[in-house]
Amino acid sequence: MNFNEFDLHKQVRSGLQAVGYDTPTPIQAQSLPASLAGRDVLGLAQTGTGKTAAFALPILHRLLRIPEAKRHGVVRALVVAPTRELAEQIRSEIDRLGQHTGLRSVSVYGGVGMNPQIKALRGRAEIVVACPGRLLDLMQRGHADLTQVETLVLDEADHMFDMGFLPDVRRIVKAIPREAQRLLFSATMPDDLRRLADEMLSRPVRVEIGRRAPVETVDHAVYPVAHERKVDLLVHLLKKHDPDSALVFVRTKHGAKRLAQKLDRQNFFVTAMQGNLSQTRRQKALDGFRRGDFHIMVATDIAARGIDVTRVSHVINYDVPDGAEAYTHRIGRTGRAERSGDAFTLVTPQDESKFDAILRQLGTETERVVLDGFGGATPSNGSGSPGRGNGQTKNGSRNRRGRGRGGRNHRGRGSN
Ligand code: AMP
Repeated sequence: MNFNEFDLHKQVRSGLQAVGYDTPTPIQAQSLPASLAGRDVLGLAQTGTGKTAAFALPILHRLLRIPEAKRHGVVRALVVAPTRELAEQIRSEIDRLGQHTGLRSVSVYGGVGMNPQIKALRGRAEIVVACPGRLLDLMQRGHADLTQVETLVLDEADHMFDMGFLPDVRRIVKAIPREAQRLLFSATMPDDLRRLADEMLSRPVRVEIGRRAPVETVDHAVYPVAHERKVDLLVHLLKKHDPDSALVFVRTKHGAKRLAQKLDRQNFFVTAMQGNLSQTRRQKALDGFRRGDFHIMVATDIAARGIDVTRVSHVINYDVPDGAEAYTHRIGRTGRAERSGDAFTLVTPQDESKFDAILRQLGTETERVVLDGFGGATPSNGSGSPGRGNGQTKNGSRNRRGRGRGGRNHRGRGSN
């Protein structure tokens, strides 16, 4: 299948050409016929599937059908997303795809000054990408006129729900004209969200992609380890695999900061992403990671939500995620689109049963790699995780891409 099969406006087609997309991803192929026809869509898809373009393309196409003289200076499309980073990422994808359209976008979120956003909203942008809190604030102060919105998108709706934004989102939905097209994207569909979907969508076309199971292009491995050897094992893995870009997940903000400091002391190019950082520092960390100045980013789940760092080659669960959904979201950071990635999980004896439950729920095959000297005991029975007992390897037979000690991501001279 090819994008030419959709009757997209030629300026949108030029944008697709410029960014180099020629084949629609499954979520795009399945949702575009409905969304381009103006239908409501309920898209069940996790990040990494191409869902941003799945809603950006119909937005741009629809706006270009408005006569040029009337097209500008009125907010006609609104995308609501849970985090500032995701909002920036969506805006950037819309701008890339819309680079030949002359359409303008603005992103609106808290943690930065309101005035530039107010100015941009006043007649300078047709597309608004917003986090719920700041948008409501601006609406209440009379700075955001949403009465002409023709397309509303809720992206990562399950995260907005997790983060307690659902009441805000409901108020935003109420401020949009009833006849506006509505597109709702979510990786999962908890009951409360289903109720919201029922309320806000009218006869939606439901599209479901790759439910729950982590992206197939990702290779998974589990590393049993003694609690007190986790940092050593992580350092060992980072030196051995020498990832171009690794996202290391930890449970707490404090843990993220501490681990990043430890890795920094070991001379890795590392940055941390956690909720306590100011918006400027978060953006700086993210930009540095995207550019490749940092090869390792240590992050909490909340801080990393929806981040699209296309180049992420390794996701390392330093701490076991809270459940199957968190695991899927973390792993969704790597193996994006057609690329492949590796996902490692460090599992202490205390975490074994929790991680077994996650694997059972996902039905995922996961190689178990026991490395000498890190206290990772071989379990006494093979119950629980599929694939357990597979590939028990000493000294890392999975060194497919290893470049040995002190590789490119490491400033050191091979010392520990
Ligand atoms: P998303 O799920 O929207 O975050 O997209 C995941 C990644 O896939 C992003 O890096 C996009 O640039 C890329 N992408 C989206 N659509 C396509 C496509 N049709 N062809 C190639 N890459 C794509």
